[in-house]
Amino acid sequence: LTREGFSSVPNVTWDEVGGLDNVRNELKNYVVQSIKNPKLYQHFGVSSKTGILLFGPPGCGKTLMAKAAANEAEANFIHVKGPELLNKYVGESELEVRKLFARARHCSPCIIFFDEVDALTTTRGREGGWVVERPLNQLLIELDGADQRQGVFVIGATNRPEVIDPAILRPGRLGNHVLVPLPSAEDRGLILKALARGKPIDPSIDLTEIGKRKACERLSGADLNKLMEDAAMIALKEATRSGNPDEEKMLLCTIQPSHFDQALEKI
Ligand code: ATP
Repeated sequence: LTREGFSSVPNVTWDEVGGLDNVRNELKNYVVQSIKNPKLYQHFGVSSKTGILLFGPPGCGKTLMAKAAANEAEANFIHVKGPELLNKYVGESELEVRKLFARARHCSPCIIFFDEVDALTTTRGREGGWVVERPLNQLLIELDGADQRQGVFVIGATNRPEVIDPAILRPGRLGNHVLVPLPSAEDRGLILKALARGKPIDPSIDLTEIGKRKACERLSGADLNKLMEDAAMIALKEATRSGNPDEEKMLLCTIQPSHFDQALEKI
């Protein structure tokens, strides 16, 4: 597994996440606080072991927010893609799941983030001629072994919640289900502001207004990121096209409203 070879605390902070207050709060309650204040959870008899399933359309911030939660909790983060785990000889996937949880226990507190968790938990006997029951069973065993799971928290992510085996969605397993929707008009403005951090945005730009434009309807966070990059690239080209060899002057150029207008026309 390429991504699985290391684990560390991600450097993504909540400042980089725009909007989605509801999801943010759920992650803070279920994950961050239970890592930071385990005694409080015990006191109220709230299980801190139940995992979270983040579901919703692609590119809306599931991975980003899982990382921000790990960062706030100062927990290690292991990013696993469901299909990567399955890309093994028969029997090896189970072993991989076991090794994964063992590694997470070694570096606890640790969050295991299962991206495309549906791949691991769908019975695909009809489609591909092979079944994923064995790794799924191993995953259920690991999730149920909550007592041995000290300091290991599980977040799953999927775009296809409907194909997930219901066994894994039960309380105690990935029992908290949180929708990560396409951003609202207001959230699009907040996402653009988060994405603008560190970029030379001209003060005349109103990102809240841009987020509300018709052309931005139904754009995901990933689409808005592309919009921001395109606008920056148009500004950069303009700065260099002026034939101004003076780098100092070019570094004073900013991203202007017209650059956003042009970038939006492309979408
Ligand atoms: P997938 O289901 O395809 O894995 P995802 O929901 O996990 O997608 P992310 O990988 O978290 O989506 O988001 C992709 C990129 O889109 C982020 O790296 C970020 O640049 C941008 N993005 C998405 N949502 C937000 C947000 N709420 N605030 C700021 N940036 C965002």
